[in-house]
Amino acid sequence: MSAQGRSLAVAMDGPSGTGKSTVSRRLAIALGARYLDTGAIYRTATLHVLRKGVDLGDPVAIADAVVGLPWSIGTDPEGEQVLLDGEDVGSEIRGGEVTAAVSAVSAVPAVRAFLVEAQRQLARDAERIVVEGRDIGTVVLIDADVKIFLTASAQARARRRNEQNIQQGRGDNYEAVLADVERRDHLDSTRAVSPLRPADDSILVDTSEMGIDEVVARLIELVDERTGAGQ
Ligand code: C5P
Repeated sequence: MSAQGRSLAVAMDGPSGTGKSTVSRRLAIALGARYLDTGAIYRTATLHVLRKGVDLGDPVAIADAVVGLPWSIGTDPEGEQVLLDGEDVGSEIRGGEVTAAVSAVSAVPAVRAFLVEAQRQLARDAERIVVEGRDIGTVVLIDADVKIFLTASAQARARRRNEQNIQQGRGDNYEAVLADVERRDHLDSTRAVSPLRPADDSILVDTSEMGIDEVVARLIELVDERTGAGQ
């Protein structure tokens, strides 16, 4: 039993394009756990900021907009619903405009403080949960039972994201996707608050040469080794 009364919390961190979302969902399903996508929360906050026409160079205005955020997110690993003002924004938050602005919004300390607290509350509400993000093992759930840090080369990650874009009808543009992956990596790992880095007690899993099934099987094994909860 972890400190907050849950029976299992798995922290899944790492940069985008490591297969983190697919793997986290599938791990949650295999463990009979809930799933929390914290990236979707930062994306929803960013959509709200963009809709309000807030200047992305004004952290105080960004923080003000986010503190009043009328949002909610589900934790069903089979498909979580993300609502902003009662509207399902699950698709819109994956679009280019939000993706381009999300690093600026998520770098504002007051935004993080507010959203981290909300994430902890959602995690407390679940008995078993897989929480996915950038700072889960280092900040959000430092008492997580298992901490995984997924890595992969920038090229492997851009290739995957580009394939996803093609499947979702967003077009084929590998070079632009690679540039965006590298830009976001840099912003996320050099920001002053909660930079992207593995927790000291996290397990590094490099997925560059691994298929999704292989990664999921490895993670179930790791969770089982650490907690006995994978079987
Ligand atoms: O995971 P996803 O790519 O949807 O996350 C979008 C962005 O949200 C990241 O690039 C990062 O700027 C931010 N983020 C964060 N902390 C988290 C999750 C996401 O700063 N825990």
